[in-house]
Amino acid sequence: MVKKVAITLSLFILVASFILSPDLIFAEKISREKINQIKTQKKTVLDQITAKDSAMKKEIDKMKAAQQKIDTIEQDAAKVEIALNQAEQELKIYDDKFKLRVRKLYQRGEMGYMATLFAADSFGKFLHRFEIVRVIMKKDYALIEERRQAKNKVKQKLTAFNKLRDEQNQEVQKSKKAYDQLMAAQKKDKTKLSEIQEIEEMHEEEMIRINLEDLRSGKLNFPYVGPLQRPSHLRQTSAFGYRIHPIHHTKKLHAGIDFAGPIGTPVLAAGNGVVVESRPSNGYGWLITIYHGTQNGKRVYTRYAHSYPNQVKVKAGQEVVAGEQITSIGNNGWSTGPHLHFEVRLGNSAQPPPVDPETYF
Ligand SMILES: [Zn+2]
Repeated sequence: MVKKVAITLSLFILVASFILSPDLIFAEKISREKINQIKTQKKTVLDQITAKDSAMKKEIDKMKAAQQKIDTIEQDAAKVEIALNQAEQELKIYDDKFKLRVRKLYQRGEMGYMATLFAADSFGKFLHRFEIVRVIMKKDYALIEERRQAKNKVKQKLTAFNKLRDEQNQEVQKSKKAYDQLMAAQKKDKTKLSEIQEIEEMHEEEMIRINLEDLRSGKLNFPYVGPLQRPSHLRQTSAFGYRIHPIHHTKKLHAGIDFAGPIGTPVLAAGNGVVVESRPSNGYGWLITIYHGTQNGKRVYTRYAHSYPNQVKVKAGQEVVAGEQITSIGNNGWSTGPHLHFEVRLGNSAQPPPVDPETYF
C-alpha cells in the first residue's frame, strides 16, 4: 500500500514538473531575447566566479604572509626560550648558593655563626663582624634579585612573542574562514553556471536556427569588439599582399596570412562571433567564415582555410568565443604544405574585400 502511494506520488511529481517547468514548455520557442538574457546571466556568473577567484587568491596570500610572520616569531621565540633556560639556571645556581650559605650559618647556629659573633672580645668587634655578615648576605641577595629580574625580562619577551603569534594565528583563521565562505559561494556559482550551460546546450539547435534566420534576413547585427587574436600559435610563414602565387606562378594578391605547422595543430577562432559558413571549397579546401560584428557600418569577417572535413568542429549558425578551437591545420585545397590560410574581410557585400589581418591584431 505504502509502495503504491509512493509510486503514485512520484508519478504525480514527474507529470507536475513537466507541466510546471518553463524551460520544457518554451524549449521549442526560445527567442533572441531569451538567448541574450541567458548570455547576460552567463556573463554575470562568469564575472562573479572570476571575482571570487581573485578574492580567494588574496586570502591565500594573506594566510601565507601570516604564516611567514609566525615562522619568524617562532624562530625568535626559540632563541628567547634558550635565554630563559639559561637565566633560570643562573638564578638557580645563585639561589642554591645563597640557601647553602644561610643553611651553613644556621647549622652553626649559636655554636657556630652566633658563636663567631659573640666570640668577639669587644662589642666593637662584634658589630664589625655582624656588619660583614650582613653585607655578604645583602650582596648575595642583590645578586639573586638581579638574576630574578633578568629572568623576568626574558619571560616577558617570550610572553610578547606568544601574543604576537596568537595574533597572527587569528589572522590565519580569519583568512581561512573567508576563504571557506568564498569557496562555498563559488561552488554555488559554478552550479548555476553549469545550469545555464545546460540550458544553452538544450537550446543550441534553436540558437543556430535563429542565427541562420537572422543572418539571411540581415538582422544578425552586433558591434565588433576588437582586437582579434592570432588564430594559431604556429609560425607565420606568409604575409598579406601581392606575391608570385606558389601554384599558379602569376603575380596575385595573397588575401590573407599563412601559419605553417603539423597537420592536426589546433586552429582557433580569432574573436567572438557567429559561424556564417563551414563548407567545402575548391581553393580553400574547407572554408570556415566567422562574423564578428559591425565596425563603422561594415561587417567584420574572418576566414580559415585548408582543413579537412573531419577536423572541423563548428557549423553554420553556431556561436564561438575567441580562442575556441574551430578546426585543425590541414593540407586540403590549393595548398603546397600543411598550413592555415587566414583572412579578414570587411564590408557588406556577398564577397567583402580582404584586408591585412595584421591591422586587426
Ligand atoms: Zn595563404
